[in-house]
Amino acid sequence: MTAGGPEEDDPEAGLAERKMRFLFALRSHGVTDARVLTAMERVDRGLFVRGIFAARAYEDMPLPISCGQTISQPSVVGLMTQALNVGPRDTVLEIGTGSGYQAAILAQLARRVYTVDRWRRLVREAQEIFRRLNLVNVTAMAADGSFGLPDQAPFDRILVTAAAEDPPGPLLQQLKPGGIMVLPVGQSDTVQHLIKVTRGTSGFEYEELRPVRFVPLVEGLGNE
Ligand code: SAH
Repeated sequence: MTAGGPEEDDPEAGLAERKMRFLFALRSHGVTDARVLTAMERVDRGLFVRGIFAARAYEDMPLPISCGQTISQPSVVGLMTQALNVGPRDTVLEIGTGSGYQAAILAQLARRVYTVDRWRRLVREAQEIFRRLNLVNVTAMAADGSFGLPDQAPFDRILVTAAAEDPPGPLLQQLKPGGIMVLPVGQSDTVQHLIKVTRGTSGFEYEELRPVRFVPLVEGLGNE
């Protein structure tokens, strides 16, 4: 960007302008689905980021949240949501609530959203925001998401926002026929790939979407 242009972190740039640039960044990264863009326009990312990082909420970058975790980069959230192709009658499971931002976007598109995280504190903080936004169709729970959510299964869509070496078996089992799961796979310190798994009548189809970098899917609950 040339000097004199509106810089990413220009404190003078108004909120409306920063949000416009936010949507522009999404489109230029390939988020073109109108329903996804509308959902992302409605959900204010600024509510999900705290303290000094809140000022950067409308920039296309991951940011730190509680418990040493991160809220994903908005363009990655957009591309994953787009790949998931959520319909208005769908029940969606998200593994990795984190800040709750991705779940709040899914809640705009789906009938029902379940989201789980291994940190109780993140779940509590996200629940508070869902209440403030009156998002009554999202349920957040503390659980080890590697096992899915057997009580609510099967799901039309599953989104995993932490990287596993392979798609966890219980998640594949909890996907309805015709269902779609989007998840990053690979080791945390090497290249991970976002993949889309579709459950067909006679098995699973795998499509590799793009390289990504996520925190690892960790076993067991966190200690706060
Ligand atoms: N979707 C989030 C970002 C997720 S960061 C957002 O919109 O902000 C990845 C999250 O996955 C972290 O919060 C981490 O605690 C969680 N996680 C890692 N392993 C997990 C597991 N086995 N079960 C549930 N959550 C897990």
